[in-house]
Amino acid sequence: MAEPELVDVDVDVVVVGLGVGGEEVAGRLAEAGLTVVGVERDLVGGECPYWGCIPSKMMIRAANALAEARRVDGLAGSAQVRADWAAVAKRIREEATDDWNDRAAVDRFTGKGGRFLRGSGRLDGPGRVRVGDQVFQARHGIVLGTGTRPSIAPIDGLADTPYWTNHQAIEAAELPASLLVLGGGAIGAELAQVFARFGVRVTVLEASGRILALEEPESSEVAAAALRADGVEIATDVRAERIDHDGDTFTVHAGDRSFSADQLLVVTGRRAHLDELGLDTVGIDAGQRYLPVDDRMHVTDGIWAVGDVTGEGAFTHIAMYQASIVVADVLDRVRRAEAGPDASGTASVVGGAMGAASAVGGAMGAAGPSGAAGTVPRADYRALPRVTFTDPEVGAVGLTERQARERGINVQVGFTELSSSTRGWIHKSEPGGFIKVIADADQGVLIGATSVGPAGGEVLSALVVAVHAAVPVSQLRHMIYAYPTFHRAIQSALDDLS
Ligand SMILES: Cc1cc2nc3c(=O)[nH]c(=O)nc-3n(C[C@H](O)[C@H](O)[C@H](O)COP(=O)(O)OP(=O)(O)OC[C@H]3O[C@@H](n4cnc5c(N)ncnc54)[C@H](O)[C@@H]3O)c2cc1C
Repeated sequence: MAEPELVDVDVDVVVVGLGVGGEEVAGRLAEAGLTVVGVERDLVGGECPYWGCIPSKMMIRAANALAEARRVDGLAGSAQVRADWAAVAKRIREEATDDWNDRAAVDRFTGKGGRFLRGSGRLDGPGRVRVGDQVFQARHGIVLGTGTRPSIAPIDGLADTPYWTNHQAIEAAELPASLLVLGGGAIGAELAQVFARFGVRVTVLEASGRILALEEPESSEVAAAALRADGVEIATDVRAERIDHDGDTFTVHAGDRSFSADQLLVVTGRRAHLDELGLDTVGIDAGQRYLPVDDRMHVTDGIWAVGDVTGEGAFTHIAMYQASIVVADVLDRVRRAEAGPDASGTASVVGGAMGAASAVGGAMGAAGPSGAAGTVPRADYRALPRVTFTDPEVGAVGLTERQARERGINVQVGFTELSSSTRGWIHKSEPGGFIKVIADADQGVLIGATSVGPAGGEVLSALVVAVHAAVPVSQLRHMIYAYPTFHRAIQSALDDLS
Protein backbone atom coordinates (compact mmCIF):
# COMPACT_ATOMS: atom_id res chain seq x y z
CA MET A 1 0.00 0.00 0.00
CA ALA A 2 1.28 3.50 -0.86
CA GLU A 3 2.32 5.69 2.06
CA PRO A 4 -0.40 8.25 2.94
CA GLU A 5 0.75 11.62 1.65
CA LEU A 6 1.84 14.18 4.23
CA VAL A 7 0.11 17.46 3.50
CA ASP A 8 1.03 20.62 5.37
CA VAL A 9 -2.26 22.32 6.14
CA ASP A 10 -0.98 25.01 8.47
CA VAL A 11 -0.64 27.50 5.65
CA ASP A 12 -2.77 30.50 4.68
CA VAL A 13 -1.18 31.39 1.35
CA VAL A 14 1.44 29.83 -0.92
CA VAL A 15 3.30 32.14 -3.30
CA VAL A 16 5.06 30.37 -6.18
CA GLY A 17 7.86 32.44 -7.72
CA LEU A 18 9.45 35.18 -5.60
CA GLY A 19 10.39 37.65 -8.32
CA VAL A 20 9.47 41.30 -7.97
CA GLY A 21 5.74 40.57 -7.80
CA GLY A 22 5.77 37.37 -5.76
CA GLU A 23 8.28 38.68 -3.22
CA GLU A 24 6.20 41.80 -2.65
CA VAL A 25 2.97 39.83 -2.18
CA ALA A 26 4.55 37.17 0.04
CA GLY A 27 6.40 39.69 2.22
CA ARG A 28 3.41 41.93 2.76
CA LEU A 29 1.03 39.08 3.54
CA ALA A 30 3.53 37.64 6.00
CA GLU A 31 3.93 41.07 7.62
CA ALA A 32 0.15 41.22 7.90
CA GLY A 33 0.24 38.12 10.08
CA LEU A 34 -0.69 35.38 7.61
CA THR A 35 1.19 32.08 7.41
CA VAL A 36 2.88 32.40 4.03
CA VAL A 37 5.04 29.83 2.25
CA GLY A 38 7.20 31.45 -0.45
CA VAL A 39 8.63 29.10 -3.08
CA GLU A 40 11.51 30.17 -5.36
CA ARG A 41 13.61 27.92 -7.51
CA ASP A 42 16.33 30.42 -8.36
CA LEU A 43 17.04 33.77 -6.69
CA VAL A 44 14.55 35.64 -4.50
CA GLY A 45 13.94 38.97 -6.23
CA GLY A 46 13.80 37.42 -9.69
CA GLU A 47 15.00 38.92 -12.94
CA CYS A 48 14.97 42.63 -12.08
CA PRO A 49 17.73 42.83 -9.42
CA TYR A 50 20.03 40.11 -10.80
CA TRP A 51 19.73 40.14 -14.61
CA GLY A 52 17.34 42.97 -15.49
CA CYS A 53 16.47 46.49 -14.50
CA ILE A 54 19.05 47.21 -11.83
CA PRO A 55 22.30 45.84 -13.29
CA SER A 56 21.33 46.98 -16.80
CA LYS A 57 20.72 50.49 -15.48
CA MET A 58 24.12 50.39 -13.73
CA MET A 59 25.63 49.55 -17.10
CA ILE A 60 23.68 52.40 -18.70
CA ARG A 61 24.73 54.84 -16.00
CA ALA A 62 28.36 53.96 -16.68
CA ALA A 63 27.98 54.13 -20.46
CA ASN A 64 26.23 57.49 -20.20
CA ALA A 65 29.06 58.82 -18.03
CA LEU A 66 31.46 57.94 -20.84
CA ALA A 67 29.23 59.59 -23.44
CA GLU A 68 28.86 62.72 -21.32
CA ALA A 69 32.63 62.94 -20.83
CA ARG A 70 33.07 62.65 -24.59
CA ARG A 71 30.71 65.65 -24.98
CA VAL A 72 33.17 67.87 -23.10
CA ASP A 73 34.86 68.48 -26.45
CA GLY A 74 33.14 71.46 -28.00
CA LEU A 75 31.21 72.37 -24.85
CA ALA A 76 33.83 72.79 -22.16
CA GLY A 77 37.31 72.10 -23.47
CA SER A 78 38.64 68.64 -24.02
CA ALA A 79 38.58 65.34 -22.13
CA GLN A 80 40.34 62.06 -22.61
CA VAL A 81 38.22 59.07 -21.70
CA ARG A 82 39.39 55.51 -21.25
CA ALA A 83 36.58 53.03 -20.84
CA ASP A 84 37.11 50.11 -18.47
CA TRP A 85 34.41 47.45 -18.29
CA ALA A 86 35.99 45.90 -15.20
CA ALA A 87 34.63 48.75 -13.07
CA VAL A 88 31.10 48.09 -14.28
CA ALA A 89 31.34 44.32 -13.86
CA LYS A 90 32.68 44.80 -10.32
CA ARG A 91 29.88 47.18 -9.38
CA ILE A 92 27.23 44.78 -10.70
CA ARG A 93 28.79 41.84 -8.93
CA GLU A 94 29.39 43.56 -5.59
CA GLU A 95 26.74 46.28 -5.26
CA ALA A 96 23.79 45.03 -7.30
CA THR A 97 23.77 41.25 -7.08
CA ASP A 98 26.01 40.23 -4.16
CA ASP A 99 27.67 37.90 -6.67
CA TRP A 100 24.25 36.55 -7.65
CA ASN A 101 23.44 35.53 -4.10
CA ASP A 102 19.99 36.12 -2.56
CA ARG A 103 20.90 35.65 1.12
CA ALA A 104 19.76 39.19 1.97
CA ALA A 105 16.46 38.79 0.12
CA VAL A 106 15.69 35.45 1.80
CA ASP A 107 16.46 36.98 5.21
CA ARG A 108 14.23 39.94 4.38
CA PHE A 109 11.33 37.58 3.69
CA THR A 110 11.85 35.29 6.66
CA GLY A 111 12.39 38.39 8.83
CA LYS A 112 8.82 39.36 7.99
CA GLY A 113 7.63 35.98 9.23
CA GLY A 114 7.48 34.13 5.88
CA ARG A 115 8.46 30.47 5.44
CA PHE A 116 10.92 30.12 2.58
CA LEU A 117 11.34 27.05 0.42
CA ARG A 118 13.89 26.69 -2.40
CA GLY A 119 12.43 24.61 -5.20
CA SER A 120 9.98 24.47 -8.10
CA GLY A 121 6.34 24.75 -7.16
CA ARG A 122 3.41 23.43 -9.16
CA LEU A 123 -0.31 23.25 -8.57
CA ASP A 124 -1.52 19.88 -7.36
CA GLY A 125 -5.28 20.24 -7.37
CA PRO A 126 -7.49 22.96 -5.82
CA GLY A 127 -5.68 24.86 -3.07
CA ARG A 128 -2.62 22.61 -3.22
CA VAL A 129 0.97 23.28 -4.23
CA ARG A 130 3.60 20.60 -4.58
CA VAL A 131 7.32 21.32 -4.17
CA GLY A 132 9.26 18.10 -4.66
CA ASP A 133 7.64 15.64 -2.29
CA GLN A 134 6.20 18.35 -0.04
CA VAL A 135 2.56 19.32 -0.48
CA PHE A 136 0.91 22.43 0.98
CA GLN A 137 -2.82 22.95 1.32
CA ALA A 138 -3.42 26.70 1.34
CA ARG A 139 -6.37 27.87 3.45
CA HIS A 140 -6.91 31.12 1.60
CA GLY A 141 -5.20 30.88 -1.74
CA ILE A 142 -2.24 30.56 -4.07
CA VAL A 143 -0.39 33.34 -5.86
CA LEU A 144 1.58 32.61 -9.04
CA GLY A 145 4.40 35.06 -9.74
CA THR A 146 6.49 32.87 -12.00
CA GLY A 147 7.52 35.51 -14.53
CA THR A 148 8.98 34.82 -17.95
CA ARG A 149 12.18 33.49 -19.47
CA PRO A 150 13.89 34.54 -22.72
CA SER A 151 11.93 33.43 -25.75
CA ILE A 152 14.42 31.73 -28.03
CA ALA A 153 13.18 31.27 -31.58
CA PRO A 154 13.84 27.80 -33.03
CA ILE A 155 16.37 29.15 -35.55
CA ASP A 156 18.33 26.43 -37.28
CA GLY A 157 21.67 25.92 -35.49
CA LEU A 158 21.07 28.38 -32.64
CA ALA A 159 20.55 25.85 -29.85
CA ASP A 160 23.99 24.33 -30.43
CA THR A 161 25.85 27.62 -30.05
CA PRO A 162 27.12 29.35 -26.87
CA TYR A 163 24.90 32.39 -27.45
CA TRP A 164 24.13 34.95 -24.72
CA THR A 165 20.77 35.83 -23.23
CA ASN A 166 20.41 38.82 -20.92
CA HIS A 167 21.88 36.61 -18.15
CA GLN A 168 25.32 36.20 -19.76
CA ALA A 169 25.29 39.82 -20.99
CA ILE A 170 24.71 41.10 -17.45
CA GLU A 171 27.21 38.66 -15.91
CA ALA A 172 29.95 39.42 -18.47
CA ALA A 173 33.28 40.12 -16.76
CA GLU A 174 34.88 40.85 -20.12
CA LEU A 175 33.43 42.13 -23.35
CA PRO A 176 33.79 40.60 -26.81
CA ALA A 177 35.37 42.68 -29.58
CA SER A 178 32.21 42.42 -31.65
CA LEU A 179 28.59 41.53 -30.90
CA LEU A 180 25.45 40.71 -32.85
CA VAL A 181 22.29 41.69 -31.00
CA LEU A 182 19.34 39.67 -32.27
CA GLY A 183 16.29 41.77 -31.45
CA GLY A 184 15.92 45.55 -31.52
CA GLY A 185 13.35 45.97 -28.74
CA ALA A 186 13.94 47.96 -25.57
CA ILE A 187 16.42 45.50 -24.02
CA GLY A 188 18.34 45.04 -27.29
CA ALA A 189 18.60 48.78 -27.90
CA GLU A 190 19.72 49.54 -24.34
CA LEU A 191 22.41 46.85 -24.25
CA ALA A 192 23.60 47.59 -27.81
CA GLN A 193 24.28 51.21 -26.89
CA VAL A 194 26.02 50.28 -23.63
CA PHE A 195 28.39 47.82 -25.27
CA ALA A 196 29.11 50.17 -28.20
CA ARG A 197 30.06 52.93 -25.76
CA PHE A 198 32.52 50.49 -24.19
CA GLY A 199 34.16 49.92 -27.57
CA VAL A 200 32.39 46.78 -28.79
CA ARG A 201 31.55 46.70 -32.53
CA VAL A 202 27.79 46.11 -32.28
CA THR A 203 25.28 45.16 -34.97
CA VAL A 204 21.58 45.05 -34.16
CA LEU A 205 19.52 42.63 -36.25
CA GLU A 206 15.83 43.46 -36.16
CA ALA A 207 13.12 41.39 -37.85
CA SER A 208 10.70 44.27 -38.39
CA GLY A 209 11.28 47.50 -40.30
CA ARG A 210 12.49 49.50 -37.30
CA ILE A 211 13.92 49.16 -33.81
CA LEU A 212 11.60 49.87 -30.85
CA ALA A 213 8.81 48.71 -33.14
CA LEU A 214 6.14 48.97 -30.42
CA GLU A 215 6.76 52.69 -29.93
CA GLU A 216 6.00 55.71 -32.14
CA PRO A 217 7.91 55.67 -35.46
CA GLU A 218 9.55 58.98 -34.47
CA SER A 219 10.93 57.25 -31.34
CA SER A 220 12.47 54.54 -33.49
CA GLU A 221 14.09 57.16 -35.72
CA VAL A 222 15.67 59.05 -32.83
CA ALA A 223 16.82 55.88 -31.06
CA ALA A 224 18.32 54.49 -34.28
CA ALA A 225 20.12 57.78 -34.98
CA ALA A 226 21.49 57.79 -31.41
CA LEU A 227 22.73 54.22 -31.66
CA ARG A 228 24.32 54.86 -35.05
CA ALA A 229 26.07 57.93 -33.61
CA ASP A 230 27.61 55.54 -31.07
CA GLY A 231 28.83 53.30 -33.89
CA VAL A 232 26.08 50.67 -33.75
CA GLU A 233 25.09 49.19 -37.09
CA ILE A 234 21.38 48.51 -37.43
CA ALA A 235 20.03 46.04 -39.95
CA THR A 236 16.23 45.86 -40.22
CA ASP A 237 13.95 43.32 -41.93
CA VAL A 238 16.43 40.62 -40.92
CA ARG A 239 14.72 37.27 -40.42
CA ALA A 240 17.45 34.98 -39.13
CA GLU A 241 17.22 31.58 -40.82
CA ARG A 242 20.40 29.84 -39.70
CA ILE A 243 23.11 30.47 -37.16
CA ASP A 244 26.61 29.00 -37.29
CA HIS A 245 29.35 29.05 -34.70
CA ASP A 246 32.78 27.83 -35.75
CA GLY A 247 34.31 27.96 -32.28
CA ASP A 248 35.28 31.65 -32.56
CA THR A 249 32.74 33.44 -34.69
CA PHE A 250 28.96 33.54 -34.87
CA THR A 251 27.37 33.98 -38.29
CA VAL A 252 23.70 34.79 -38.71
CA HIS A 253 22.28 33.98 -42.14
CA ALA A 254 19.16 35.82 -43.31
CA GLY A 255 18.17 35.47 -46.97
CA ASP A 256 21.13 36.61 -49.04
CA ARG A 257 22.61 38.56 -46.13
CA SER A 258 24.90 37.29 -43.40
CA PHE A 259 26.36 38.94 -40.30
CA SER A 260 29.34 37.80 -38.22
CA ALA A 261 30.72 38.67 -34.80
CA ASP A 262 32.54 37.18 -31.80
CA GLN A 263 29.38 36.93 -29.70
CA LEU A 264 25.64 36.73 -30.23
CA LEU A 265 23.11 38.18 -27.79
CA VAL A 266 19.54 36.91 -28.26
CA VAL A 267 16.90 39.32 -26.93
CA THR A 268 13.89 38.46 -29.04
CA GLY A 269 11.25 38.67 -26.33
CA ARG A 270 10.18 36.70 -23.26
CA ARG A 271 7.81 33.83 -22.68
CA ALA A 272 5.86 32.47 -19.72
CA HIS A 273 6.24 28.73 -19.14
CA LEU A 274 2.72 27.77 -18.11
CA ASP A 275 3.22 24.10 -18.90
CA GLU A 276 5.37 23.75 -15.75
CA LEU A 277 2.72 24.99 -13.31
CA GLY A 278 0.28 22.07 -13.05
CA LEU A 279 -2.55 24.29 -14.30
CA ASP A 280 -4.42 21.27 -15.65
CA THR A 281 -4.94 20.08 -12.05
CA VAL A 282 -7.24 23.07 -11.48
CA GLY A 283 -8.86 23.07 -14.91
CA ILE A 284 -6.86 25.90 -16.50
CA ASP A 285 -5.56 25.71 -20.06
CA ALA A 286 -1.74 25.65 -19.93
CA GLY A 287 -1.51 26.18 -23.70
CA GLN A 288 -2.01 29.95 -23.47
CA ARG A 289 0.76 32.49 -23.95
CA TYR A 290 0.14 34.12 -20.56
CA LEU A 291 -2.11 33.56 -17.55
CA PRO A 292 -5.18 35.74 -18.12
CA VAL A 293 -6.36 37.56 -14.99
CA ASP A 294 -9.31 39.80 -14.19
CA ASP A 295 -8.86 43.29 -12.79
CA ARG A 296 -8.13 41.90 -9.31
CA MET A 297 -5.56 39.44 -10.64
CA HIS A 298 -7.82 36.38 -10.19
CA VAL A 299 -6.92 33.48 -12.44
CA THR A 300 -9.72 31.47 -10.90
CA ASP A 301 -11.27 31.23 -7.45
CA GLY A 302 -8.46 31.11 -4.87
CA ILE A 303 -5.64 31.58 -7.41
CA TRP A 304 -4.08 34.94 -8.23
CA ALA A 305 -1.29 35.80 -10.65
CA VAL A 306 1.08 38.75 -10.52
CA GLY A 307 3.77 40.26 -12.76
CA ASP A 308 5.07 39.28 -16.18
CA VAL A 309 3.18 35.96 -16.19
CA THR A 310 -0.10 37.89 -16.59
CA GLY A 311 0.99 39.37 -19.93
CA GLU A 312 -0.21 42.85 -18.96
CA GLY A 313 3.24 44.38 -19.51
CA ALA A 314 6.72 43.14 -18.67
CA PHE A 315 7.69 45.87 -16.23
CA THR A 316 8.67 45.91 -12.60
CA HIS A 317 6.21 48.73 -11.98
CA ILE A 318 3.37 46.54 -13.32
CA ALA A 319 4.41 43.68 -11.01
CA MET A 320 4.47 46.05 -8.01
CA TYR A 321 1.14 47.65 -8.98
CA GLN A 322 -0.52 44.27 -9.36
CA ALA A 323 1.06 43.06 -6.11
CA SER A 324 -0.71 45.84 -4.19
CA ILE A 325 -4.03 44.73 -5.63
CA VAL A 326 -3.37 41.06 -4.83
CA VAL A 327 -2.39 41.88 -1.23
CA ALA A 328 -5.54 43.93 -0.72
CA ASP A 329 -7.73 41.27 -2.32
CA VAL A 330 -6.25 38.35 -0.38
CA LEU A 331 -6.61 40.22 2.90
CA ASP A 332 -10.16 41.15 2.02
CA ARG A 333 -10.91 37.46 1.37
CA VAL A 334 -9.29 36.46 4.67
CA ARG A 335 -11.27 39.06 6.55
CA ARG A 336 -14.53 37.93 5.01
CA ALA A 337 -13.76 34.24 5.55
CA GLU A 338 -12.90 34.77 9.18
CA ALA A 339 -15.86 37.05 9.86
CA GLY A 340 -18.30 34.46 8.53
CA PRO A 341 -21.20 34.76 6.10
CA ASP A 342 -22.94 37.61 7.97
CA ALA A 343 -19.83 39.77 8.19
CA SER A 344 -20.37 43.46 7.70
CA GLY A 345 -17.76 45.43 5.76
CA THR A 346 -16.40 46.74 9.04
CA ALA A 347 -15.44 43.48 10.75
CA SER A 348 -11.87 43.52 11.95
CA VAL A 349 -10.80 39.96 12.53
CA VAL A 350 -7.30 39.89 11.11
CA GLY A 351 -5.88 42.84 12.99
CA GLY A 352 -2.54 43.34 11.27
CA ALA A 353 -3.93 42.21 7.98
CA MET A 354 -6.71 44.77 8.03
CA GLY A 355 -4.18 47.47 8.71
CA ALA A 356 -2.19 46.56 5.67
CA ALA A 357 -5.29 46.10 3.53
CA SER A 358 -6.67 49.50 4.30
CA ALA A 359 -3.27 51.12 3.77
CA VAL A 360 -3.18 49.63 0.27
CA GLY A 361 -6.80 50.47 -0.39
CA GLY A 362 -6.20 54.05 0.63
CA ALA A 363 -3.12 54.46 -1.51
CA MET A 364 -4.69 52.89 -4.57
CA GLY A 365 -8.04 54.56 -4.02
CA ALA A 366 -6.42 57.94 -4.02
CA ALA A 367 -4.62 57.09 -7.23
CA GLY A 368 -7.54 56.64 -9.54
CA PRO A 369 -10.88 55.12 -10.39
CA SER A 370 -10.21 52.11 -8.21
CA GLY A 371 -13.03 52.68 -5.78
CA ALA A 372 -13.68 54.19 -2.38
CA ALA A 373 -11.39 53.67 0.60
CA GLY A 374 -11.81 50.18 2.05
CA THR A 375 -12.68 48.51 -1.24
CA VAL A 376 -10.15 46.46 -3.18
CA PRO A 377 -8.70 48.51 -6.05
CA ARG A 378 -9.09 47.29 -9.61
CA ALA A 379 -6.29 47.29 -12.14
CA ASP A 380 -6.38 50.08 -14.69
CA TYR A 381 -3.64 50.07 -17.35
CA ARG A 382 -4.76 53.14 -19.36
CA ALA A 383 -1.79 55.15 -18.15
CA LEU A 384 0.86 52.43 -18.24
CA PRO A 385 4.24 54.15 -18.52
CA ARG A 386 7.23 52.54 -20.25
CA VAL A 387 10.77 53.82 -20.60
CA THR A 388 13.58 52.61 -22.83
CA PHE A 389 16.74 53.80 -21.15
CA THR A 390 18.75 54.55 -24.25
CA ASP A 391 20.43 57.95 -24.46
CA PRO A 392 18.24 59.84 -25.26
CA GLU A 393 15.58 58.09 -23.19
CA VAL A 394 12.34 57.06 -24.84
CA GLY A 395 9.42 57.46 -22.44
CA ALA A 396 5.84 56.70 -23.41
CA VAL A 397 2.43 56.34 -21.79
CA GLY A 398 -0.94 55.09 -22.96
CA LEU A 399 -1.76 54.69 -26.65
CA THR A 400 0.46 55.43 -29.63
CA GLU A 401 -1.06 57.43 -32.49
CA ARG A 402 -1.58 54.24 -34.49
CA GLN A 403 -3.23 52.36 -31.63
CA ALA A 404 -5.57 55.30 -31.05
CA ARG A 405 -6.55 55.50 -34.72
CA GLU A 406 -7.08 51.72 -34.89
CA ARG A 407 -9.58 52.09 -32.04
CA GLY A 408 -11.56 54.58 -34.08
CA ILE A 409 -10.87 57.44 -31.67
CA ASN A 410 -11.18 60.99 -33.01
CA VAL A 411 -7.44 61.60 -32.71
CA GLN A 412 -5.53 64.86 -32.47
CA VAL A 413 -1.72 64.84 -32.53
CA GLY A 414 0.67 67.48 -31.21
CA PHE A 415 4.42 67.34 -31.80
CA THR A 416 7.45 69.44 -30.96
CA GLU A 417 11.17 68.91 -31.38
CA LEU A 418 13.11 69.27 -28.14
CA SER A 419 15.75 71.32 -29.99
CA SER A 420 13.16 74.05 -30.59
CA SER A 421 12.74 74.48 -26.81
CA THR A 422 15.17 76.72 -24.97
CA ARG A 423 16.48 73.89 -22.79
CA GLY A 424 16.89 71.53 -25.74
CA TRP A 425 18.80 74.19 -27.65
CA ILE A 426 21.06 74.93 -24.65
CA HIS A 427 21.66 71.24 -24.06
CA LYS A 428 22.93 70.82 -27.61
CA SER A 429 22.80 67.08 -27.85
CA GLU A 430 22.08 65.31 -31.10
CA PRO A 431 19.78 63.57 -31.75
CA GLY A 432 17.81 65.68 -29.32
CA GLY A 433 14.33 64.24 -28.95
CA PHE A 434 10.72 65.39 -29.01
CA ILE A 435 7.38 65.43 -27.25
CA LYS A 436 4.37 63.91 -28.98
CA VAL A 437 0.90 64.02 -27.47
CA ILE A 438 -2.16 62.07 -28.60
CA ALA A 439 -5.54 63.51 -27.64
CA ASP A 440 -9.07 62.20 -27.84
CA ALA A 441 -10.66 65.26 -29.46
CA ASP A 442 -14.17 64.28 -28.37
CA GLN A 443 -13.22 63.88 -24.70
CA GLY A 444 -10.70 66.73 -24.68
CA VAL A 445 -8.07 64.65 -22.85
CA LEU A 446 -4.70 63.06 -23.60
CA ILE A 447 -4.81 59.31 -24.15
CA GLY A 448 -1.15 58.82 -24.98
CA ALA A 449 2.16 60.66 -25.11
CA THR A 450 5.83 60.13 -25.87
CA SER A 451 8.74 62.01 -24.42
CA VAL A 452 12.14 61.42 -25.97
CA GLY A 453 15.14 63.32 -24.67
CA PRO A 454 18.05 63.39 -22.24
CA ALA A 455 15.56 63.02 -19.37
CA GLY A 456 12.70 61.57 -21.41
CA GLY A 457 11.69 59.11 -18.69
CA GLU A 458 11.49 61.85 -16.05
CA VAL A 459 9.62 64.33 -18.27
CA LEU A 460 7.16 61.52 -18.88
CA SER A 461 5.81 61.77 -15.33
CA ALA A 462 3.79 64.90 -16.09
CA LEU A 463 2.28 63.20 -19.12
CA VAL A 464 1.44 60.08 -17.06
CA VAL A 465 -0.49 62.23 -14.58
CA ALA A 466 -2.33 63.90 -17.46
CA VAL A 467 -3.39 60.56 -19.00
CA HIS A 468 -4.07 58.81 -15.68
CA ALA A 469 -6.23 61.57 -14.23
CA ALA A 470 -7.75 62.55 -17.60
CA VAL A 471 -6.81 66.19 -17.02
CA PRO A 472 -8.63 68.30 -19.64
CA VAL A 473 -6.27 69.53 -22.38
CA SER A 474 -7.64 73.04 -21.78
CA GLN A 475 -6.30 72.84 -18.21
CA LEU A 476 -2.94 71.45 -19.30
CA ARG A 477 -2.57 74.39 -21.69
CA HIS A 478 -3.06 76.82 -18.83
CA MET A 479 -0.52 75.24 -16.51
CA ILE A 480 2.70 77.11 -15.75
CA TYR A 481 5.74 75.18 -17.06
CA ALA A 482 9.07 76.16 -15.48
CA TYR A 483 11.56 77.90 -17.76
CA PRO A 484 13.87 76.58 -19.18
CA THR A 485 13.09 72.92 -18.44
CA PHE A 486 12.78 70.00 -20.84
CA HIS A 487 9.21 69.45 -19.68
CA ARG A 488 8.27 72.95 -20.84
CA ALA A 489 8.22 71.47 -24.34
CA ILE A 490 4.97 69.72 -23.35
CA GLN A 491 3.26 73.09 -23.68
CA SER A 492 4.50 73.49 -27.27
CA ALA A 493 3.27 69.99 -28.13
CA LEU A 494 -0.14 70.83 -26.66
CA ASP A 495 -0.25 74.07 -28.67
CA ASP A 496 0.42 71.99 -31.80
CA LEU A 497 -2.60 69.68 -31.23
CA SER A 498 -4.63 69.52 -34.40
C1 LIG B 1 17.60 43.13 -19.29
C2 LIG B 1 16.29 43.53 -18.68
C3 LIG B 1 16.08 44.85 -18.30
C4 LIG B 1 14.89 45.22 -17.73
N1 LIG B 1 14.73 46.53 -17.37
C5 LIG B 1 13.56 46.93 -16.83
C6 LIG B 1 13.39 48.29 -16.44
O1 LIG B 1 14.26 49.13 -16.60
N2 LIG B 1 12.20 48.64 -15.88
C7 LIG B 1 11.18 47.73 -15.69
O2 LIG B 1 10.13 48.11 -15.18
N3 LIG B 1 11.34 46.44 -16.03
C8 LIG B 1 12.49 46.02 -16.60
N4 LIG B 1 12.66 44.70 -16.94
C9 LIG B 1 11.53 43.77 -16.71
C10 LIG B 1 11.48 43.28 -15.26
O3 LIG B 1 12.69 42.66 -14.91
C11 LIG B 1 10.32 42.32 -15.10
O4 LIG B 1 9.14 42.95 -15.52
C12 LIG B 1 10.15 41.86 -13.66
O5 LIG B 1 11.30 41.18 -13.22
C13 LIG B 1 8.94 40.96 -13.55
O6 LIG B 1 8.83 40.46 -12.26
P1 LIG B 1 8.03 39.10 -12.00
O7 LIG B 1 7.94 38.99 -10.51
O8 LIG B 1 6.79 39.06 -12.78
O9 LIG B 1 8.93 37.95 -12.63
P2 LIG B 1 10.46 37.55 -12.48
O10 LIG B 1 11.30 38.68 -12.05
O11 LIG B 1 10.79 36.88 -13.77
O12 LIG B 1 10.45 36.48 -11.31
C14 LIG B 1 9.80 35.25 -11.42
C15 LIG B 1 10.45 34.29 -10.45
O13 LIG B 1 9.70 33.08 -10.41
C16 LIG B 1 10.61 31.98 -10.29
N5 LIG B 1 9.89 30.79 -10.74
C17 LIG B 1 9.38 30.55 -11.97
N6 LIG B 1 8.71 29.38 -11.97
C18 LIG B 1 8.81 28.87 -10.72
C19 LIG B 1 8.30 27.70 -10.10
N7 LIG B 1 7.55 26.83 -10.77
N8 LIG B 1 8.60 27.49 -8.80
C20 LIG B 1 9.37 28.37 -8.11
N9 LIG B 1 9.86 29.51 -8.64
C21 LIG B 1 9.56 29.75 -9.93
C22 LIG B 1 11.78 32.38 -11.17
O14 LIG B 1 12.93 31.68 -10.79
C23 LIG B 1 11.87 33.89 -10.88
O15 LIG B 1 12.76 34.17 -9.83
C24 LIG B 1 13.86 44.28 -17.51
C25 LIG B 1 14.05 42.94 -17.87
C26 LIG B 1 15.25 42.57 -18.45
C27 LIG B 1 15.44 41.13 -18.84
